Amino acid sequence: MNLAGKDKKHIIHPWSNLGSDAESMIIESGKGVHVFDSEGNKFLDSISGMWCVNLGYGNEEMAQAIADQCVKLAYYTPFGAMTSPPSIQLATELSALTPGDLNCFQFTNSGSTAVESAIRFVHYYFNCLGQPEKKHIIYRENAYHGSTYLAASLNGKRCDRSYFDYVTDIVHATSDPNPFKRPQGMSIEDFCDLRVNELRDKILEIGPDKVACFIAEPIMGSGGVIVPPPGYHKKTLDVCREYDVLYISDEVVTAFGRLGHYFASEEVFGIVPDIITVAKGISSGYQPLGAAIFSQKLVDRISGDSASENSYYTNGFTYSGHPVTCAAALKYLEIMKRDKLTDHVLEVGPYFMERLETLMELPAVGDVRGRCLMACVECVVSDNEDENIAFAQRVDEFCQEKGLIVRPYENLCILSPPLIIEKKHADQIVDILGDSIASTM
Ligand code: PLP
Repeated sequence: MNLAGKDKKHIIHPWSNLGSDAESMIIESGKGVHVFDSEGNKFLDSISGMWCVNLGYGNEEMAQAIADQCVKLAYYTPFGAMTSPPSIQLATELSALTPGDLNCFQFTNSGSTAVESAIRFVHYYFNCLGQPEKKHIIYRENAYHGSTYLAASLNGKRCDRSYFDYVTDIVHATSDPNPFKRPQGMSIEDFCDLRVNELRDKILEIGPDKVACFIAEPIMGSGGVIVPPPGYHKKTLDVCREYDVLYISDEVVTAFGRLGHYFASEEVFGIVPDIITVAKGISSGYQPLGAAIFSQKLVDRISGDSASENSYYTNGFTYSGHPVTCAAALKYLEIMKRDKLTDHVLEVGPYFMERLETLMELPAVGDVRGRCLMACVECVVSDNEDENIAFAQRVDEFCQEKGLIVRPYENLCILSPPLIIEKKHADQIVDILGDSIASTM
């Protein structure tokens, strides 16, 4: 049996069709912005693996830092009063970069566990404050927050809901702020207010005493790179503040450079949330690492009395603050700073978006949206959504035949190239994608 056959027999892939006979594409190696499959084909990777390999592939400095830490100390327990230096150093360095007083880190293994940990903290927090009824969570349609039980219950994408079970009693959806889908004739400003008022109405409907938190991605990623109208985040944060609802900014995709800044919440959207969740780019995808980052104020409010039965924080993982994953993140931060990676993104990102917007001339393109190195092209060839989805899937196949990997989601082609791309790579992505769309017509 060949490798693809063994894969089919033994491995359950995330978000895959268990009934499909299709063989997986086996990616064997990578260098820079390119990856190579098991048949030796070379692809320009316009999705950074999965929004994460910010530095591109085969970075030897990253490999060396990981190897050095493995030799020095591969692992030690973070439980109770034990720890190891890399997590302390990482939390200290990150504290200087996070918005406001978001200085307290719970390290996790992934984005899902970061979101799960954030929500569990919020529940614990309100229990400690004597408000145990404050448990409800508001998320947005088309959001993606992960694959653990509670995080998956906050996913708003249609295709993420299948025969699994979800938490239903304490989660509530509100509409996403996609300007492309706003009612005909409505201004962007009015559309923003519509969505903000919808959040307020949802809080009032559930009861402010029961709503614990609102969770939002600064720019929705896998739900279709939805860039909110100007002022949306600021206004939703104000609504949350009004009703003592905590604001969780899920920056699993947007933090660590993709939008040209370390964190998008404050630097791009001007807000200081109560909690930020991160993963993916934090280690440039070289090691599995995530974190829930809490405001010092929140932590202080519930700490301080070690005799209290509430002060025992029974939440965390064997691999929280794993020394090797933290060493990878520290090296990524060092490279980001030294190579002025955010400046590079602020230069190449707008060029990429500008080139991508030329695809609007193609009749099959309904919308091109995004910011810096987070973008999407929405294919609209018919009033029938299934036809649009089938079209985008054919575009994806054409792209692969021409040596480009994009990420299809329904009728969208999603793009999130490594942050090290140069303008020539941006040109190649746009040219191949444009040719593929044109030849799919
Ligand atoms: N949150 C956001 C915004 C994401 O995009 C993702 C994954 O794509 C997650 C959470 C879950 O992260 P992970 O797959 O590392 O668990």
